[in-house]
Amino acid sequence: MTDDKVYDVIIIGGGPAGLTAAIYTSRARLKTLVVESYLEVSQVSLTDRIENYPGFPDGVTGANLLEKMKKHAEKFGTQFTVGNTNGINESKLDNYPAWEVVLDSGTYKSLSVIIATGAKASKLGVPREKELTGKGVSYCGVCDAPFFKEKDVVVVGGGDTAVEEALYISKFAKNIKLVHRRDRLRATKILQERAFANDKIDFVWDSVVTEILGDGKVTGVKVKNLKTAKEDEIQCDGIFIYIGLVPNTNFVERLVDMDDRKYIIADSSMKTSKPGIFACGDCIKKDLRQIVTATGDGANAGYSAQLYVEKLKGTAYE
Ligand code: NAP
Repeated sequence: MTDDKVYDVIIIGGGPAGLTAAIYTSRARLKTLVVESYLEVSQVSLTDRIENYPGFPDGVTGANLLEKMKKHAEKFGTQFTVGNTNGINESKLDNYPAWEVVLDSGTYKSLSVIIATGAKASKLGVPREKELTGKGVSYCGVCDAPFFKEKDVVVVGGGDTAVEEALYISKFAKNIKLVHRRDRLRATKILQERAFANDKIDFVWDSVVTEILGDGKVTGVKVKNLKTAKEDEIQCDGIFIYIGLVPNTNFVERLVDMDDRKYIIADSSMKTSKPGIFACGDCIKKDLRQIVTATGDGANAGYSAQLYVEKLKGTAYE
């Protein structure tokens, strides 16, 4: 293997967790590669306005924040490549234990690996969801809301993402019906206050979407009230689905320990069950998935990878 494919640290995932880890390992003068996926994008890049990341009281767009983080890592020497990661295998580098990272664009070797692959939107799993995706079914307001100018839209979910996205979509749509399975929202209070004060947003409580209607494009949804079992149809031109996340961890399913929802189990130093493999950000089991917790995890993962690699090489400051 040529030297250009050998690293001290390979970081899989170019979101806030991975980029922060890269800033730390690059400043520690470890040869660092960040693998950016072309199949999955960071949830942050789909966020219109972030107003709970310290230092940006007036808010910042997700794309802008991510670009700044990438430039920051590049400044300290982080290298980048684009590829989908198929797996990680045990290997050797000189006489050190190492990991082989298999991308569809090539195979790399590294003394340590940081998994920062984030999570993606869950699907509802109701009839016609798949065939009408891109034809009125969407998981991204920032990408698709402008197509629904003066249209009627349904938003599904009661968490931060559903409410934040409903607020964003209300800049375009005529009316939004937010369908939630309970009679109150999970979202942060400040988002709830804004949604309740927004004339364009109505709430359909205690209800779930059971089917999406339309032939070639969305024309409505069927909803069922969970308390009364009454079924109704809501006419709409689009449905935006925000019912939580699934971690992007399939490629390491048999490698590191995970919980029953496939979130990677990492300790407070972001160590996984395999020596030399660390994990951070939205793909790990934890309570609070925020940009600020992802960057905190990333710093810890980067530092732990540094200690691990320096110890292997016998250069640790002990
Ligand atoms: P979430 O917090 O897990 O909320 C998912 C929502 O969807 C919940 O209200 C849940 O209902 C509902 N739901 C789940 N499965 C459902 C189903 N099959 N049918 C109907 N409804 C269903 O997910 P999220 O809103 O995507 O947020 C993910 C993480 O990112 C969270 O930690 C969140 O705080 C964070 N986030 C933060 C911000 C911010 O700080 N500005 C913005 C976006 C996301 P129940 O409430 O009944 O469980």
